Amino acid sequence: KSLIKIENMSLEYGESINSTLALKNINLEINKGEFICVLGPSGCGKSSLLKCIAGYVNPSSGRVLMQDKEVEGPDWHRGVVFQSPTLYPWMTVNQNVEFGPKMRNLSKNEIENTRKYFLEEVDLSGFGENYTFELSGGMKQRVAIARVLANYPQVVLMDEPFGALDALTRENMQNLIRNIWQENNTTIFFITHDVDEALLLATRVVLMSKQPGEILKIFELDFSKQ
Ligand code: ADP
Ligand code: ADP
Repeated sequence: KSLIKIENMSLEYGESINSTLALKNINLEINKGEFICVLGPSGCGKSSLLKCIAGYVNPSSGRVLMQDKEVEGPDWHRGVVFQSPTLYPWMTVNQNVEFGPKMRNLSKNEIENTRKYFLEEVDLSGFGENYTFELSGGMKQRVAIARVLANYPQVVLMDEPFGALDALTRENMQNLIRNIWQENNTTIFFITHDVDEALLLATRVVLMSKQPGEILKIFELDFSKQ
């Protein structure tokens, strides 16, 4: 049931007098199927925490374990979605979503089925042949989500994924990600600074405190979601 374990993790950027303690003694366990929202003021270390889980940054002390194995660098078991989607502009929507499955040498059929399924999940079935620069912000973010999901990651790490979208698009995206989470039994770790968004989506909310980033409180919200 437990998927990720963060043990006594601290993160310091830089050296000696110019250093910043971004995370201090973080302990957190993420279970399979959870939708965790991390809430906290700007600069409290939310992104740093996500980067440590993703394997982009090594903690200064402590460790991150995924299924009892220490995380060493990024890989497709931990998919990341950023606030501004980073898509391949020379590829169509189809090619973006197929990229991961192709890298993993799936059969032609599996690649096509995976791509079709997740484009349907993000409501973009009619846009496979489009280039991503032809799409709106919300659509691009949906391509980025489909591309990550097509890798069947163990966990999806999202860093304020809807922060750059207008209010209506954001609401649609929130509903969409909640459906995807429910239908696919996905595990999601989701950063936001929007309290309403956290309360709407999360099964657990992790509240972080200002510098240095520590976990202030963890709220269980399960009851409201099923
Ligand atoms: P949040 O995502 O909550 O806004 P961050 O994790 O981005 O917080 O930042 C936490 C702290 O670490 C801040 O004080 C920030 O200035 C600092 N920080 C973040 N990234 C770096 C970096 N690459 N080098 C030095 N300091 C950084
Ligand atoms: P209560 O429901 O009485 O607040 P909790 O178990 O929620 O008790 O939390 C007790 C204290 O421990 C709180 O201050 C909370 O912020 C802190 N805490 C809970 N879980 C963690 C964790 N995984 N890492 C760090 N601090 C935590």
